[in-house]
Amino acid sequence: MERLTFKMPELEPGWVWLTGAGPGDPGLLTLHALNGLRQADVIVHDALVDDRTLTLAGPDCEIIYAGKRGGKPSPRQSDISARLVKLARDGKKVLRLKGGDPFIFGRGGEEALALVAAGIPFRVIPGISAGIGGLAHAGIPLTHRETNSAVTLVTGHGASGDLPDGIDWPALATGSPVLVIYMAIKHLGTIRRRLMEGGRFADEPVAVVSRASQPDERVLETTLGMCVEDVAAQKIEPPAIVVIGEVVRLRAGLDWVGALGGRILDADPLGTRRTRDAG
Ligand code: SAH
Repeated sequence: MERLTFKMPELEPGWVWLTGAGPGDPGLLTLHALNGLRQADVIVHDALVDDRTLTLAGPDCEIIYAGKRGGKPSPRQSDISARLVKLARDGKKVLRLKGGDPFIFGRGGEEALALVAAGIPFRVIPGISAGIGGLAHAGIPLTHRETNSAVTLVTGHGASGDLPDGIDWPALATGSPVLVIYMAIKHLGTIRRRLMEGGRFADEPVAVVSRASQPDERVLETTLGMCVEDVAAQKIEPPAIVVIGEVVRLRAGLDWVGALGGRILDADPLGTRRTRDAG
């Protein structure tokens, strides 16, 4: 922060900064996140936070892992919240670091409300969500004038482990041209069935982006009809985002990472100019 021409806030003892770490690449952290990493006495992070990001912490910072490991059940949310409260009451400068954005399918709201209930002062530092910035990194825009003016973020995994209740799939099928689905791999077969029952076509483009922005990022371009089989055949694993809709076609023109490796980009990936010129 030393070369900034403006002042960044101080992380004070007894405070919790509820911070988004972005999709993985430390370059996608915000300045506020970096500022917090450098000042924290203790960082409580979840499984999606990249190891490289944690190296930005100060040398005396205590790093506490509060996520799922090796298939064991994750710590209870109430235990994590209680721990944050205790650390703050002990006078620590606490950075709670969560993958992506803390308020998008990240239970950040629950943790913040627990801090409110306990009277702990806090700051919220937004992060780049995997379903937004992770897809941009993979060359897939969420909107494009020629394909969609609306997009829906959905989770494929509810608190019980099943598909979440209360999602009106037929309404999404007809009403949302682009669907960005977090935690979608496990129930992808059911999601596909519900969307196709709602009128979506088997040849609709789908991309599955695993470990977006990380060195081992993988992107599968497939179709709604083939996505489940292709995910299995290609062994695509979580964490992954599934995006369904015409925007996926734009990747043929916007896969800048692929271009670094020699992919020839198509300047007219939707074929609109070709059609227009022919007409
Ligand atoms: N708060 C996070 C989401 C937490 S839910 C955010 O805003 O990004 C966890 C899910 O996020 C994962 O199952 C996966 O669907 C998605 N996810 C998180 N990081 C990801 C990454 N680097 N690449 C692909 N998907 C990711």
